[in-house]
Amino acid sequence: MKVTGEMPIGKATRFGAAGTVKAFDPRRGVEIEPPFGVATADDVDDACQLALRAFESYRETSPAERGAFLVRAADNLLALGDVLYERAASETGLTVERIKGETARTAAQLKLFADVVRHGRWRNATIDSGDPTREPLPKAELRMQKVPVGPVAVFGASNFPILYSVAGGDTASALAAGCPVVVKAHGSHPGTSELVGKAIQAAVAQSGLHEGVFSLLIGAGNAVGEALVDHPAIHAVGFTGSEAGGMALVRRGAARPVPIPVFAEMTSVNPNFVLPHALEVRAPEFASRFVERMTAGAGQMCLKPGMIVAIEGPGFGALRDALAHALRGVPAQTMLSPGIYENFRRETERSRHGQSSVSIAQGQAPEARFDGQSEIFEMDATELLAEPALAGEMFGPAAVLVRCRDTQQMLAVAAGLQGQLTVALHIDSGDIELARLLLPVVERKTNRILANKFSNMVEIGYATVHGGPFPATSDSRFTSVGATAIERFLRPVCYENLPAELLPPALRDDNPLSLWRVRDGELEQR
Ligand code: NAP
Repeated sequence: MKVTGEMPIGKATRFGAAGTVKAFDPRRGVEIEPPFGVATADDVDDACQLALRAFESYRETSPAERGAFLVRAADNLLALGDVLYERAASETGLTVERIKGETARTAAQLKLFADVVRHGRWRNATIDSGDPTREPLPKAELRMQKVPVGPVAVFGASNFPILYSVAGGDTASALAAGCPVVVKAHGSHPGTSELVGKAIQAAVAQSGLHEGVFSLLIGAGNAVGEALVDHPAIHAVGFTGSEAGGMALVRRGAARPVPIPVFAEMTSVNPNFVLPHALEVRAPEFASRFVERMTAGAGQMCLKPGMIVAIEGPGFGALRDALAHALRGVPAQTMLSPGIYENFRRETERSRHGQSSVSIAQGQAPEARFDGQSEIFEMDATELLAEPALAGEMFGPAAVLVRCRDTQQMLAVAAGLQGQLTVALHIDSGDIELARLLLPVVERKTNRILANKFSNMVEIGYATVHGGPFPATSDSRFTSVGATAIERFLRPVCYENLPAELLPPALRDDNPLSLWRVRDGELEQR
């Protein structure tokens, strides 16, 4: 398959007429051919109208049909092979190996959602038996199931061009829920987006589905994204990116004549609390693993471990030395785009020249224009407690070591944290009592707690949680990764007094979908 600069909208491909943009190769510092046509307001409207029309039939597809479609999308994605790997690597500066791994995980995620659809637990089919003889009032029979909300807009992320982008978790979970999807491609990887978009478009056709189940829009600036969120056909939004971008869209979704939810995953520093006994016995080992995880993918990961919190005492000096030693050997890496490189450079410079932190080590010097140089800063907890904004994310290969006076100050740092995607506790057997005190504090700050592990190794499964209180996400009640991400795009409907022949299959007494259901509060086997 060739990159042409066109967008798949329904079954057609269009070259947008609102101008052109080109992708940029951050490794070579040059633009990449071909130009991409930018979507017009009519393209946005067409994609959204098609999605709304497709919703009527797509929401009614059987679990087998919808599951088979998701598997086809996964197979088509994998079939893109080297064309995709090479295009994505050139548009992002990430390695082909990294892109291959992401593609495999994205395909596995689509297949996971095929299983989720077939299992049917997402419907949450629930029946309360009625009792016409109950006094003083008869008890009504209630039957409830979850249904898809309607067409969903997805904003692809810059930092995972496959896994959190066109065919990523937001798209997979919305399609699994029965919602058509219109994706706004991220401007930094339009060719990758086109290839993946066409693979999904082909799966829609091969599955005999309405063409409007999937469309992709190329934008430049905010106009296309704004028009998409404003469109009355759109019923929910999935977003991964900056806090500024995410919150602009959250406000936009809320300000519409018919408000819609915008599920935005935004910013997190993923603190690592190294408790005193663990610090004393394994500071060097922790440091080398931390540096490895903090610099993976040039640190451009929402789950990058970006903060260490430790108490000054035995092991603290060894930790600082080992971090510096490990970091000095790390080569500078190409960053995703000139914009992200520039943000990172500005943020590290601010920390380096600020009053509150000192640089304790840097990685190897950059060799090319958009190479990010790794760096670790150290800061006293008193400074952080006085100015919580100092704990903001540095999107790139940088982190901060926070030095606490004692356990009380460590607990205060935990209590002062903003919402996070993850918090890790590094503990030894002697740390259990302090860990017991920390746990209820960090539970209020994050939706994912790890022990003796680093955050950016995510298993995508049924129990996966990728979310957290603001500003990690705009709605901590949901995850954006893992099987239960589907819940963002569903709403409950209760049926009362419906004749049996009008009941949806999930709620019929003969249970034709063989679902696990809840009847009168108890799980009813299929
Ligand atoms: P971004 O600037 O938030 O952009 C993400 C997407 O949202 C793009 O498609 C962008 O479209 C669109 N967008 C942003 N603001 C918008 C607005 N006001 N109205 C309509 N659409 C809007 O994120 P990014 O380009 O990926 O990276 C910028 C910064 O975000 C990074 O330096 C980093 O700090 C942060 N980031 C964080 C994470 C994370 O997981 N925590 C991931 C990625 C990035 P256009 O580009 O076409 O305007």
